[in-house]
Amino acid sequence: MSSSTFTITELRAKIDALPRYRIARLPTPLDHMPRMSKELGIDLFVKREDMSGLAFGGNKTRELDFFIGDALQRQATVFIAGGGAAQSNHAVQCAAAARRAGLHPVMVLHRFRDEAQGNVLLNRLMDVDVRFIDGATIDSAIDARTALEGQMHRVAREYERRGESCYVLPTSFHVLGAAAYVDGAIEIVEQMATQALAVDHLYLTSAGATQVGLALGLKMLGAQPKVTGISYTAASNSLVPRMIDLGRQVGELLGLPVSLSNDDIRNESYAGPGYGIVTPDGLEAIRMAASLEGMFLDPVYSGKGMAGLIDHVRRGIVRKGERVVFVHTGGLPAIFAYHKELARTAS
Ligand SMILES: *Cc1c(COP(=O)(O)O)cnc(C)c1O
Repeated sequence: MSSSTFTITELRAKIDALPRYRIARLPTPLDHMPRMSKELGIDLFVKREDMSGLAFGGNKTRELDFFIGDALQRQATVFIAGGGAAQSNHAVQCAAAARRAGLHPVMVLHRFRDEAQGNVLLNRLMDVDVRFIDGATIDSAIDARTALEGQMHRVAREYERRGESCYVLPTSFHVLGAAAYVDGAIEIVEQMATQALAVDHLYLTSAGATQVGLALGLKMLGAQPKVTGISYTAASNSLVPRMIDLGRQVGELLGLPVSLSNDDIRNESYAGPGYGIVTPDGLEAIRMAASLEGMFLDPVYSGKGMAGLIDHVRRGIVRKGERVVFVHTGGLPAIFAYHKELARTAS
């Protein structure tokens, strides 16, 4: 262990200095998966971030404790977020957290699969002010982001003319989202200690903040698992440098002596044809988790993440008998929006 690592107490003190509005039910469980372990020939545990306790759960709940904390400290009355597809899991989590904190939720979304099912239905039930972005496709991320931020700020001005005060969260690729997962790393290390587990690998579905926070937190604590992110968007060369830069911002925010390098960020895409498009191996992963463990994964995020882990086991990147923690990042309402694809291929 190098001298630049922190103890849990020291690292937690850094996190505790940030404004935080506690909605997430923490710690989330770290569950053994005996039947999937047997099937795959590894020792599999799942960190149940899908049980974070807000609107069907997921990684965004933990992050929103900090986003909402920040919004309340800035005395916002309106919470503007979104950025994803109509079925955005992030948006529903944002809207639910805003409602819990008494803020008015406004979600700016791409008109992609906007059938009134899954997350679209949940937004309607929460009476979210949903605004659609015109003219941008979901995979043209850079252009879409510019269009998105422009639209978010136009909506903010509209609310401000009515005397509201707006908090705009253009993306969860955000220093506070990553800081939330430094806290997630602390929790995992504590649970590993309590359950006396030596863990070889940590897998999760991420193209950003969740992986950055976990990788940085584990590195700060000198913990051993290798972190592998499975991306749900088409592979992009710019992803790793952006993640390293986000890690630098978190280090600055929290005053950490350690930063992330290329070696710390392993990320591979299992998006298949693109974001939000069902893949055969994702479906196989969803069926395996459901039929062996009664655990549900979703076709957009966690199913693709698990598909990546299964493929790495089959290719020998994860060796037989190794112990793996898979972080279940949530996304469950989407299974209802994808019922046609999921039902068609069910055996
Ligand atoms: C947002 C999200 C992720 C990935 O989050 P990153 O910000 O890319 O780390 C994974 N799973 C679900 C269900 C999500 O909503």
